[in-house]
Amino acid sequence: MHEIERRGLIDCALSMKRESLVRGSGGNVSLRVDLDRVLITPSAMDYETMEISDICCVDLSGNMVEGTRRPSSDISAILYIMRNMPRAKAVIHTHQPYATALSLVADELPADLVTVIDELGGAVRVAPFTRSSDEGMGIQTVEYAGDSNAVILKHHGVVAWGNDADSALSAAVNLEEGCRCFLAALATGLPLAHLTPEQIADESKERGYYGQPG
Ligand SMILES: [Zn+2]
Repeated sequence: MHEIERRGLIDCALSMKRESLVRGSGGNVSLRVDLDRVLITPSAMDYETMEISDICCVDLSGNMVEGTRRPSSDISAILYIMRNMPRAKAVIHTHQPYATALSLVADELPADLVTVIDELGGAVRVAPFTRSSDEGMGIQTVEYAGDSNAVILKHHGVVAWGNDADSALSAAVNLEEGCRCFLAALATGLPLAHLTPEQIADESKERGYYGQPG
């Protein structure tokens, strides 16, 4: 069942590594395939050798539906997010270094870069520390999500989501670029320039030009 989606999860996890968002078997990728079925990467297995039969299928309460592997240790947090934030059809969790570094010195990545506004829906907030692998990580993610499609977890990493694994990955990659840029600016010690609420609202407007006509 869901062979294409399972392959998509492994490809997304490999991209997560290629983009330096995780090391080793860190992080996880999950996808809601219907009302009560979620595919999720297994706990502590190498993505490079992962096969589609290693992907776990669980219901929204965490009961195994299909598979022999133990699901990611963050499963209760991921399922909490999917139950309480329906727009999170695909969720990825990373330990990306620039966003995690920002969590130690700031409360949010402000909406001062067009990429942050266009790709992340605005400022991305830092959620307070909670122990890893607990449902609390999911509770804080939902609490701090706002209109964005990612949350930075203080002392930990990032949760990003979207309609599919590719858009969740894209949110995490754009967040990392934004945090890298913001930290570089902060490191100069010079005052930061900010966009006004009017400029942010104007940048957010759909202009229908980007990309190729279909
Ligand atoms: Zn983690």
